Amino acid sequence: ATPAATMVGTTLGARNGVLFKGGDVLERAKDVDTVVFDKTGTLTRGEMELTDVVVLDDGERPVGDRDGGTLSADGGRLAAREPLGEDDVLRLAAIAESGSEHPLARAIVDGAVERGIDTADPDDFENVPGHGIKATVNGREVLVGNRKLLRDDGIDPSPALETMERLEKEGKTAMLVALRGSDGSGNPESNGDQPPSEGEIVGVVAAADTVKETARDAVSQLRERGIDVMMITGDNERTARAVAERVGIEPRNVRAEVLPEDKSDAVESVQEGGRKAMMVGDGVNDAPALAVAYVGTAIGSGTDVAIEAADVTLMRDDPVDVVKAIRISDATLAKIR
Ligand code: ADP
Ligand code: MG
Repeated sequence: ATPAATMVGTTLGARNGVLFKGGDVLERAKDVDTVVFDKTGTLTRGEMELTDVVVLDDGERPVGDRDGGTLSADGGRLAAREPLGEDDVLRLAAIAESGSEHPLARAIVDGAVERGIDTADPDDFENVPGHGIKATVNGREVLVGNRKLLRDDGIDPSPALETMERLEKEGKTAMLVALRGSDGSGNPESNGDQPPSEGEIVGVVAAADTVKETARDAVSQLRERGIDVMMITGDNERTARAVAERVGIEPRNVRAEVLPEDKSDAVESVQEGGRKAMMVGDGVNDAPALAVAYVGTAIGSGTDVAIEAADVTLMRDDPVDVVKAIRISDATLAKIR
């Protein structure tokens, strides 16, 4: 583009809340043939809310400390080995998540507070990126996260799968809550009738996000221009597909369960066949993918890291501005052809 055309394009962009980082990207944007959207915070608002708490307890299995130690100040039921109730499951999850900044963690903690449940800080916790959290609560391990988190820890998620699938089909993110029993002696093998040391699932909690109002419009306008639209997410396949369906993205164009560090590989593999992909994302997770994309676009309230890695920044939170960016590039360059 000539300096004059670049000037016209960047100014027009700025007036529409679309910031191009220089003439190069203004020129590239018109050639994009694939748009890859991050799901959470990009197509959805990124404000997760707790929707379900499901207890998975057969009522017979001992779930409490035999020494009378309890998991929380008012966790009498745990000590008494009565079946856990919804509030107990939610309390455990909230304590485990209270140190995490993850939107799912916030949804669980806020949901507990809204229900008037007292929470506390865990003794210790460890984030497992892309999978969940492991916490120590009164000397016991509490896990909150996806199937992989539990499997990697030797806990079989099968008893909860039916519940998970039901919630995921509704577009919700379902999380397993598991408790690794301890008999208080520190030795899991010490006594045959003690709570199982291998850990058990005590419940499932779910959170959901709302799809942005204009997400569907953005997808259909892109497709009208002959642009292939994809979605990439760390979320599970079923939830991802339910959200994709709502915004009009085909199931075959959904890449789910992509770990944060693998997002850029996923974009590279899309581009391998010579495609020119625009990656649209908002999070720290998305920065490497934004950097490898033919055009990296950071959306709205995105993190600084994402904005820094991007070629285009959309000032508003509106996915339709992706179409605007491409249109402005197209219009500006058409003028000088
Ligand atoms: P996204 O790409 O949607 O931001 P992440 O990569 O952060 O997702 O997480 C992927 C999945 O790992 C989540 O859908 C959830 O199942 C699980 N997960 C991640 N962090 C947590 C957490 N703090 N608590 C519970 N589950 C979590
Ligand atoms: Mg995101």
